[in-house]
Amino acid sequence: MVAIGQPGSCRTRRCASLLLLTAASAREWCRPGAPCWPSVDELRGICATPGCRVLLPEDDEFANASVLRDTQWTFTPGLIVQVASVEDVQRAVRFAAAKSVEPRVFNTGHCYDGHCSGDGVLRVDVGALNATEWVTSGDTFRIGSGCRWGDVYGWLGNSSGHRRCCVGGGDPSVGVTGWTLGGGHGPMTRAFGIGVQQVLSFEVVDAAGAVKTASATSEPELFWALRGGGGGTFGIVTSFTLRSHPDTAVHYAAATANMSLGLYADFAARRALLDGVGDWLAAILDPTSGDASISGTVELDHGARHQLVLKLLVRGGDAASASRRVAGLAKLVARNPAVARLDEFASYDSFGQYAASIPSKPPGAPETSASALLAPGAVAASVAAIVEGVEQLFAAASHGTEFQCTADMVGGAALAALDDAASVHDAWRATALVMACSAYGWAEGGRDAAAAALNAWSARALAPLSRVGARNQSAYVNEAQTDGFDVPWSELFWGSRYGRLLDVKRSVDPGGFWRCPNCVGSEL
Ligand SMILES: Cc1cc2nc3c(=O)[nH]c(=O)nc-3n(C[C@H](O)[C@H](O)[C@H](O)COP(=O)(O)OP(=O)(O)OC[C@H]3O[C@@H](n4cnc5c(N)ncnc54)[C@H](O)[C@@H]3O)c2cc1C
Repeated sequence: MVAIGQPGSCRTRRCASLLLLTAASAREWCRPGAPCWPSVDELRGICATPGCRVLLPEDDEFANASVLRDTQWTFTPGLIVQVASVEDVQRAVRFAAAKSVEPRVFNTGHCYDGHCSGDGVLRVDVGALNATEWVTSGDTFRIGSGCRWGDVYGWLGNSSGHRRCCVGGGDPSVGVTGWTLGGGHGPMTRAFGIGVQQVLSFEVVDAAGAVKTASATSEPELFWALRGGGGGTFGIVTSFTLRSHPDTAVHYAAATANMSLGLYADFAARRALLDGVGDWLAAILDPTSGDASISGTVELDHGARHQLVLKLLVRGGDAASASRRVAGLAKLVARNPAVARLDEFASYDSFGQYAASIPSKPPGAPETSASALLAPGAVAASVAAIVEGVEQLFAAASHGTEFQCTADMVGGAALAALDDAASVHDAWRATALVMACSAYGWAEGGRDAAAAALNAWSARALAPLSRVGARNQSAYVNEAQTDGFDVPWSELFWGSRYGRLLDVKRSVDPGGFWRCPNCVGSEL
């Protein structure tokens, strides 16, 4: 739940000034305009290395640089430090601590929850820390925390002599660090697990400005917390080392079903198609008898495109063998020729080649999200529930709000092998689909109504699905806002891991230097 009064939860300037009063009870921060605010010379002196830049509100580029991808957030940072080296990060952290200026960490600005910026903060922008290098030949590699997955896929694909791929995000524009710190799922998750299972070590700058290595043998508790405890909470990651995997050819095809009820004989006919899709998905996602070479995404858009789309990626073999693997779905499509179609598979020599063809979702719309981790037992019912639920939302929507649900296929033996060495919610181990539903595109004043409708529906429809086979409801910290849920955010995101995460937070950041709403320790 984002309560009014938590720093960073506000979307207006007036709200921001009110928050200063309440935030002060946690730690006193100096804000722009106050006598304690550092001089321009002091601010411009933060950088140490060529390429590092300090942007202040009076600079031409400041306004553009302040914009987040999700335009519901309209923060004005006190300053932005675009770091170019680890030393710049250390200096920015020490400066923020010495001058009591609240720090925030920013990579790409994809944060749905607005945590990567704030009003009056010192925003440390790591985007230029984007180096990539092999650590061991063709096996493990190190990436700077400012990389985006598109850069990494491109680099891996062009690394001559190495035929390797990695687990990364489904959209090339997503940043590697926020994605990894919250868990991280993507097209290779069914084969190799989630992001936190790939990391061997992090380099991180702590609240005192010291550089630490967190790994299984160095700072192991911090390493555990960074593997799922969320971004902006335990320090600034500057680079990390992770596993690569053997690459293969991949084959992509989309199956599309028009959802307009008028095209079906009746409601039951459409429900039969949706149940058929649900049963097919449940079979391929079955942890023991499923087919982990198939991954992909189920998307339902309402509004301009009222259709269900299964974006399917098959690893290995050729296009003909990929078609055979989805024969069950092809039969279903063939039984519904007026509404459904399955495209021919397009083949790519490598995952990198395929990834270069993935379009990025365009930025610039306000968006609010709800999420659920769905166990295999919930898959068969989920497709019809989602389609019908989003239609109910759309029917009741106002202010031009549209809704979209995306379910990413993640379950398989690799994810089932997730152990206690990562701090993500333990429901991940038995997750088949990661569901993320968004409201977006509302007109002026429609945000709260859109979020309330989405969350009321999520609590009614997604929460029971999320509880199937599990004691508690769970959600993915990177793809959810939690306004309006009756389950506390700490439980939704981390379940039984939360107590240990809080212990690590107290130990590595006793002064509450890194804070964001609904992040580990934000209630301290
Ligand atoms: C279009 C789109 C597609 C997406 N697709 C996927 C997907 O396929 N799979 C998936 O798992 N998620 C996906 N996400 C969600 C994504 O994981 C989150 O938005 C994630 O937070 C993005 O992280 P980022 O590195 O881009 O950083 P930002 O958005 O800039 O920051 C995110 C969080 O990480 C913190 N952070 C950033 N850099 C650092 C650092 N160096 N050290 C410490 N903390 C840091 C920030 O303070 C903030 O709390 C998607 C999001 C969008 C908008």
